[in-house]
Formats: sequence, structure tokens, C-alpha cells
Amino acid sequence: MSTSAQLFEQACRHIPGGVNSPVRAFKGLDRPPVFMERAQGAYLFDVEGKRYVDYVGSWGPMITGHADPDVLGAVRERLDAGLSFGTPTAIETTMADLICEIIPSIEMVRMVNSGTEATMSAIRLARGFTGRDKIVKFEGNYHGHSDSLLVKAGSGALTHGEPSSPGVPAALAEHTVTLSFNDIDAVHECFAEIGDQIACIIVEPVAGNMNCIPSRPKFLETLRETCDRYGSVLIFDEVMTGFRVALGGAQAHYGVTPDLTCLGKIVGGGMPVGAFGGKREIMEHISPLGAVYQAGTLAGNPLAMAAGIALLKKIREPGFHETLSQRVTTLCDGLEERAHAAGVELLTQRAGGMFGMFFTGQSRVDNFAQATACDAGHFRRFFSSMLDEGVYLAPSAYEAGFMSSAHTPEDIQHTLEAAGRVFAGLAE
Ligand code: PLP
Repeated sequence: MSTSAQLFEQACRHIPGGVNSPVRAFKGLDRPPVFMERAQGAYLFDVEGKRYVDYVGSWGPMITGHADPDVLGAVRERLDAGLSFGTPTAIETTMADLICEIIPSIEMVRMVNSGTEATMSAIRLARGFTGRDKIVKFEGNYHGHSDSLLVKAGSGALTHGEPSSPGVPAALAEHTVTLSFNDIDAVHECFAEIGDQIACIIVEPVAGNMNCIPSRPKFLETLRETCDRYGSVLIFDEVMTGFRVALGGAQAHYGVTPDLTCLGKIVGGGMPVGAFGGKREIMEHISPLGAVYQAGTLAGNPLAMAAGIALLKKIREPGFHETLSQRVTTLCDGLEERAHAAGVELLTQRAGGMFGMFFTGQSRVDNFAQATACDAGHFRRFFSSMLDEGVYLAPSAYEAGFMSSAHTPEDIQHTLEAAGRVFAGLAE
């Protein structure tokens, strides 16, 4: 039995499923998860010392690679001053100023501890600001695990969402409308019927939780126009896309401005951080300025701020995102080329520093139904063989991949050569 398999058995004794977040468990894959010991640059090293080229990057934050010396140095510098004070600190203002400078639609920002908290708080704020209860989200978008967002489309009925997890009250789920991603007509129909009851639309501008699905032309513009017309708040969940698709996030990439933006992952440099912010007029409704309650014992933690600020400063370097996108292009073009040469149907989709692989003959994947129609068996075999080859991909067919600036052309070449061998095996 491998050391990871032994550790997994031990973990399962006192941790549900052996993990502290479900996707780490490799459920549905015929092997136990790999336990990692350390990470450096583009690489993860497991408990047996095996090296992997990593395209998960801790699910997004590690955009300059693991154990970035500048980020670690910034944390070390703050460490001896103490871990947390529960008082205002100047470094929180530095972070807020930096975020507002990089993402101009954010005029005021509140720090929280995770992406889930960011979206949950933004939704409460939108409801408090508009005095409406209903929210609109899109099938296959993930916004964390707060109750209002663990909801799927009800069968046929436009206005009645159903809980997607036990424990979510049906009475709450009823207020969440779930539409198909990239479906402009569905948005029009929904608002024509109940637009005056809708507090907000929340959307991943590039969906990264059903593989990688960019918005279609005019989709985000339609959301913007519709929210303006009906007095609803437009929330971009940029927890994944923020600082990754472009420095200014997907809103800079697409040129569409939301009212509120949710951030996470990169903004904390690998520490547990999220943030939500946007129009001053809306943000002024948050306590203690306004009546919408929101708080956090460890929010704005100085060590977490130090890590995030160091990372944000680093990725502001001119050309950073262009280089990242070029590496994604090299990887994705190379994967498609090798797959097709081996007779395997593969489609890749990309947006800045994120990408996705679909085992499908379709020329485009635009929504959840199309994403879930891809060949899951091929994905499982591909993932597992790539792991054996020393390449760590997301252990699910429905997660995006993440490039970092630490991935060298040699790392990408190594990945492509491994993929070539694996595709040949798949085609047999
Ligand atoms: N929103 C998006 C787009 C995400 O991808 C995630 C997590 O992957 C979240 C929200 C939730 O963030 P967290 O896991 O930090 O709570």
C-alpha cells in the first residue's frame, strides 16, 4: 500500500471522507488521493518524494507558483508582530486601496475569510439594498456553499429552485432561480415574469466550476442591461477569475462592469481570504455604516493581508498576464494536437490563465448540459495516467486548470509528452 493510501485510511477515522473539502477525496476515481508534503514553483512533492507538475495551484491562488519567496518573505516580515489583533490595522487599508486601484468598479471593499463568505455577504447586501428576496444564478456556476446558493433548477418551473443539498430549507431555495449559463433568452423570459422581485444576478463571468466555459458574446452585456432595467444588482463572482483572466479580472477582459464583485483565492496569496466590494452607494449599506449586518473575527488578518498584497504587487508587472495566456495557449494547442493525432476527441477552452479540457467532439461547450455530456470515462483514465506520469490535474472533469508564471516551457513540454503517451493508451 502506498504511503498516501495509508495516510488516507488514517485520515478517514476522524475526518469525514478523510478530507476537509470534498473534491480532494478523488471520489469517483479508482484510487486514493495523493498526500502532498511540500510545494515549490510549478511542482508539488508527495509524501514519497515524487514530483508533479501542478495545474491546480491550490485551486487558483498560486498564480506565481508555490512558495513564492516574495509572498513568504512578506508573511515572515509580519510574523513577529503577532498573528491577529481584532483591531483595525494599516495593512487592511493598503489592501483595500490596492484592490480599488486594480479593479476600478470596486469603490469600497470588505475583507472576509473565504470565497463562500464573499458571495454570501454580497447576496445579503443585494437583498438588503433592493428590499427584494429572489436571486438569479446559473446552472453549473459554483459560488461556495451558503444556503441560498446550494440550489438547482426546479423541474420545469422557472421560479422555484430546489435545494441541491439536504439541510437547505426548501423555503429558502424557492427564492433562487437557476437559469442555463450563456442563455440570453432565458434571462429575458425570467425578468419579464418576475424582474421586479429579483435582488441580484450572480454569475461566474468565466465558469470555472463546470470545467472552463467563457461567456458567449453579449451574455454579460445582457445581464448588465437587464439589471439596469429592473433595478437589480449585478454581482460578478470573480473568486476564480479575479486577477487571473486579466489583472482587472473578467470585467476588464470583457469590458462589462458589475455593481458588486466577489474575490477570493489570489487576493489572499494562498491564505484564507475573500473580499466583496463595488459601488459606494451599495457598499454603504454594510454595517457599521448601514443596516446590512456582516462581520468576521479574523477578517483582514494582517498575515493574510501581507501575503495577498505581496502577490498582487507581483502580478501587476507589465506583461505578466500576456505571458501566462501564452503558456495556456501552448499547453492547450499542444494537448489538442496530440489528442487528435492519437484519434482522441478533445476540445480545450481558455480564458487568460485558466483552461479546461473536454473529451468531446463538440466544437464548443457553452453550458452545463454540454459539459456533462462529455466522456467522463476518458477523463478518469486520462487523469489517473497523467498522475502516474507526474502531472497533477484537477481530480474532476468539471474543474478548470490553472497556469502559473512558474511553469516553464520545459514543464509544459514535459506535460505534452506525457499527454501524448496517455492519449495513445486511451485510443487503444
Ligand atoms: N466562487 C467561485 C467562483 C469559486 O470557484 C469558489 C471556490 O472554488 C467559491 C466561490 C468559494 O470559495 P471558497 O472555497 O474560498 O469558499
